[in-house]
Amino acid sequence: MNIKDTQNFLHSTKLVKHLIDICNVNSDDVVLEIGPGKGIITTELSICASKVIAVEFDKELYIKLSKKYANNDKVDVFYGDILKFTPSVSNYCVFSNIPFNITSKILNKFLSDKKNDKMYLIMQYEPFIKYAGAPYYNETLRSMLYKPFFDMELKYKFNPSDFKPAPQARIVLASFERKIFPDVKMEEEKLYKDFLAYVYTNKGETFFAKIKTLFSDNQIKRVWGQVEIDKTTKISEVSYEVFLKVFKLFFLYGTDKNKQLVTDSFSNMNKQNNKLQKNHRNMNRFSRSNHFSSRK
Ligand code: SAH
Repeated sequence: MNIKDTQNFLHSTKLVKHLIDICNVNSDDVVLEIGPGKGIITTELSICASKVIAVEFDKELYIKLSKKYANNDKVDVFYGDILKFTPSVSNYCVFSNIPFNITSKILNKFLSDKKNDKMYLIMQYEPFIKYAGAPYYNETLRSMLYKPFFDMELKYKFNPSDFKPAPQARIVLASFERKIFPDVKMEEEKLYKDFLAYVYTNKGETFFAKIKTLFSDNQIKRVWGQVEIDKTTKISEVSYEVFLKVFKLFFLYGTDKNKQLVTDSFSNMNKQNNKLQKNHRNMNRFSRSNHFSSRK
C-alpha cells in the first residue's frame, strides 16, 4: 500500500473549526492527532487544546510539519506508524481524520487503551455503524464489546467535496466518549469479554440456543422470564440492554463450571481471527505471485 493512497485531505479551515467546536475540545485536553497531513487540523487543535501530539507516517509531510511547528510549544510532531505508537502521557483524547485503510486497527487499539477517554474520528460510515450498533444498525460483536465502556455517536456527515481527493465511501465524524460509570465494572470485564466471545461463536441459530449451555435448566427458565424476548430471536436482533442483563445474571448466578466453559474464549477468538487474516494475506500473496509468473 502506497502511503499516498491513505490520504484524503480536508481543505476548509472553517469546516475544521466547526468540527472541533462540536466536539468541545478544550484547554484541558492533550490531543493525539493521527496523520496530521499538512496540519490543517493540527493548527486549530493547538489553539484550543493544551497540547497536540501529532504522528505522521509520510516522511515528506513529517519534515514539513516539523518545520511548520518548530516554534510552537503546543505541538509535538512524531514520525512513525500510529499502530506502533503510544502517547507517554497519563490521559489523552484523539482527534483525527484517519487513514481509512487501517480504520479497525486504529479503533481496536485506541478503544482498548484505558488512558484514552474520548476519541473523535473522521471515518467511513460503514465501519462506524458496525462499532456503534443501535440506533444506527443492529448490534454486532464489536458494538457489544465496546458499548459498556463508550458512548458512540454520529456527529457530522461530510460531502465528498470536503476532501481532496474526494473519497468513494460515505464519511462521517464519530465520537467515542468513555462512560464515567461503565456498564461493566472492572471486576466483571474479563468475564464479559469471554462471555461475549463464547456466545457469539457458540453454535445455534438463535440467542436462546447460544446461551442455554451456560445455565442450568432452572436458571435458563428464570433468565428467560426476565428478558421477555421470543425464543426465536436471532443474536443480531438482541438489544444491548438484554445482552447486558443476561451477562449480569451469568456473573451473579453462573456456576464455576459454566464460568470455566467461557474462560479464554475472547483471546482464543482473537487468535483464530489473526490466523485467518494471516492465511488470507498469504493466499493473496500466492495468487499475486502466480499472476506475476504467468506474465513472464
Ligand atoms: N489530517 C489531514 C490528513 C488526513 S489523511 C487532513 O485532514 O487533511 C490521513 C493522514 O494519515 C495522511 O497524512 C497519511 O500520510 C497519514 N497516515 C497514513 N497511514 C498512517 C499511519 N500508519 N500512521 C500515521 N499516519 C498515517
